Amino acid sequence: MCGRCVWREVSRRGFGRAMVGAAACVSIAVAGHAPAGHATERDAPVEPRIRLADVPADQRMIALTFDCCPGAFDARIATVLVAERIPATIFVTWLWMRRNPEGLALLLAHPDLFAIENHGELHVPPVLGDRTIFGIRVAGDLPAIRREVDDGARAIRTATGATPHWYRAATGFYTPSVIPEIEAMGFAVGGYSLSADLGASLSAARVAARMASARDGDVIVAHLNQPLRPSGLGVVEGLRALQRQGTTFVRLDKVATTQPSYT
Ligand SMILES: [Zn+2]
Repeated sequence: MCGRCVWREVSRRGFGRAMVGAAACVSIAVAGHAPAGHATERDAPVEPRIRLADVPADQRMIALTFDCCPGAFDARIATVLVAERIPATIFVTWLWMRRNPEGLALLLAHPDLFAIENHGELHVPPVLGDRTIFGIRVAGDLPAIRREVDDGARAIRTATGATPHWYRAATGFYTPSVIPEIEAMGFAVGGYSLSADLGASLSAARVAARMASARDGDVIVAHLNQPLRPSGLGVVEGLRALQRQGTTFVRLDKVATTQPSYT
């Protein structure tokens, strides 16, 4: 869900291959057409859902995940995660790492809390065809998708020394036939079951309420790249609410998850 919050940022910075459009980001917008040989209607982009598997009945267990799309670093959230010893899975782009060395250093200083996973090199959706999602031009073909995923992983290895094992699409959307290709590259598909902030677009109150109402076993996604938006304050408030509920927080690399589903 992260695309709708970042297109202005990418555009302003002018990263050529990110290829962002100028569509308003107020609702889910998957536009365009699919040329023959690239994608079919059956291959319409999907937003996979995953949940934690085998959650003990007597435990409130939730996985927090954060996307670092292009943008800045939301220290409001990160400092609470560190202070409260709350583990989380962080999906980073190369674009974000390049711009936020201090934020990345803070995350890497706490390897016991944070798993760094792959959000792509340039925040390009792994979608076939000629279309945009939330105003972001999609990769278009499989070689471009492989480059986005591989180069994102390489950037993480270079920056952290660790190999990522999860990949989450820019915007959260994938062409269904591409998902097995990404899995064959060695990555689990980083879906989610609850978008807390809808691309960092919601008010603090709404974000906090959505997080507080999470179900046991949810995989929550929020954003760590929008420090000027009120949604980040809502994430902090939501974290406090989950703590009061006695939540056990887990990282995706430490637990079993369900297979991605598209409905
Ligand atoms: Zn993103």
